[in-house]
Amino acid sequence: MGSGGVGKSAITVRFINGSYLEWYDPTIEDSYRKQFSVDNQPCLLEILDTAGIDQYLTLNDMFIRESEGFVLVFSLCQRDTFEEIIRTYEAIRRIKLPEGNQIVPLVIVGNKSDLIDEREFDTTEGEKLAMEWKCSYYETSAVSKP
Ligand code: GDP
Ligand code: MG
Repeated sequence: MGSGGVGKSAITVRFINGSYLEWYDPTIEDSYRKQFSVDNQPCLLEILDTAGIDQYLTLNDMFIRESEGFVLVFSLCQRDTFEEIIRTYEAIRRIKLPEGNQIVPLVIVGNKSDLIDEREFDTTEGEKLAMEWKCSYYETSAVSKP
């Protein structure tokens, strides 16, 4: 989840088939499946690539309720997208914690790390928030290969 244009689709496609898509229809909401190993355990990951649902709050709530883990993506080149993931985090907690979930599996991702000159965000800020939320913080680029 994250603001439009931060690269949610680009990093999903990169993860699923290893390629970089320059352009991906911002309105497409799609789910992808990938067999993957997590903590040495084989598992089937189902990824829902959300698109422009933020304005439909009830729909958003439904996705949150049905998901077991979250990747909160912002752009390192756009400060306001960081504020947006904080709002999303609050929504996730509001929905998940009353269901008896003590912790909600999530990670924070600062994307577009390749655009060094356009960067508006310090790594330490991301790490600080990750400490507070007790989760991991990653900086990624869908453009450059790992
Ligand atoms: P979404 O709305 O969050 O799904 O964002 P998209 O995946 O559609 O990406 C929005 C735009 O940012 C597209 O033009 C992408 O090519 C570009 N983009 C996505 N990830 C990166 C990245 O890591 N680096 C750079 N330079 N551009 C990116
Ligand atoms: Mg998208």
